[in-house]
Amino acid sequence: MSALTPLIAGNWKMNKTRAQAEEYIQALLPAVSSVDAVDVAICVPFTALEAMVDSARGSRVEVYAQNMHQEPEGAFTGEVSATMLNDVGAQGVVLGHSERREHFGETDRALALKVPAALAAGMTPILCVGETEGERDNDDTDRKLRQQIKDALAGVRDERLAEVVIAYEPIWAIGTGRVASAEQAQEAIAFIRALVGDRDSSAAEKLRILYGGSVKPENAAELMALKDVNGALVGGASLEADSFAQIVLAGAG
Ligand code: PEP
Repeated sequence: MSALTPLIAGNWKMNKTRAQAEEYIQALLPAVSSVDAVDVAICVPFTALEAMVDSARGSRVEVYAQNMHQEPEGAFTGEVSATMLNDVGAQGVVLGHSERREHFGETDRALALKVPAALAAGMTPILCVGETEGERDNDDTDRKLRQQIKDALAGVRDERLAEVVIAYEPIWAIGTGRVASAEQAQEAIAFIRALVGDRDSSAAEKLRILYGGSVKPENAAELMALKDVNGALVGGASLEADSFAQIVLAGAG
């Protein structure tokens, strides 16, 4: 593990009513209160944002959204802007998750606007990138990562690059139980760090890169110990406060 403070972020996806969210946070807060070497975030549906911000206030748990529109306001029915997320106290936002790319047509072009818009609103963007199984089989992983990183970060000034968190999430490992091997995760994440380094070497040293894809309490410690890995983006295993807390503890080393 590098000297950067790891971030363990739980992506609830489209799960939990406000009552379920409240029960969860009341279980999570005491379970992670003594951990001080790791940043913790829960990425919750829009409907639970404000309640979770209130309940987590004063704790080490930050509350992030799962998507936003790039424009601050306007005729975009059904969308939510960075200004609005900021208004309810969200401290960050997941951008470019593969489920949004696959099911909702999220493009690198939109991300090139969303990432700087999140930063401008004072939020931490977690930019998700990763290859499909077919791309990996065709030795196309590096090309895919290069394109996603280049396009999505094009609008971010060098001085702010280190504030972006990147999550390497091989699509074949998301929700499948097929975790990347330690070698695959380290290789891809080191490659991403080198790509950022091509733009700005000091930002590359300070920027946190997470691994995501079937992280569980049983495999978290091994993944978190990898040289270039600075935390995890956790889907399914973040839905229970107890298993998410165990992953947070693994992140603390
Ligand atoms: C995710 O949704 O970002 C994710 C990594 O999911 P899972 O942990 O369930 O694979």
